[in-house]
Amino acid sequence: MKKSDANPMQRAHEAPRCTAKSKRTGLPCKSPAVRGWKVCRMHGALGGARFGAYNANWRHGGRSAEAVAIRLLSNAIAREANSFVAATDDD
Ligand SMILES: [Zn+2]
Repeated sequence: MKKSDANPMQRAHEAPRCTAKSKRTGLPCKSPAVRGWKVCRMHGALGGARFGAYNANWRHGGRSAEAVAIRLLSNAIAREANSFVAATDDD
């Protein structure tokens, strides 16, 4: 019988640890990681919140990761086209 079998608090200390690194000390955080995550609640682990349109705070999707990526790409294409036009414009 392991020591942890007798004492539930001992089992809690065996929980997976946060892998985030402190920006002050450079040492690992070592707080208990949130279930299903590699980081603790202070280092970006979300609770049970659902992503995307399934989230209760979802509005229209205009700020979703996909929409932002599309916007960035189309802006980059437009910028490239404008610089091409400016470079070939002789007037
Ligand atoms: Zn942490």
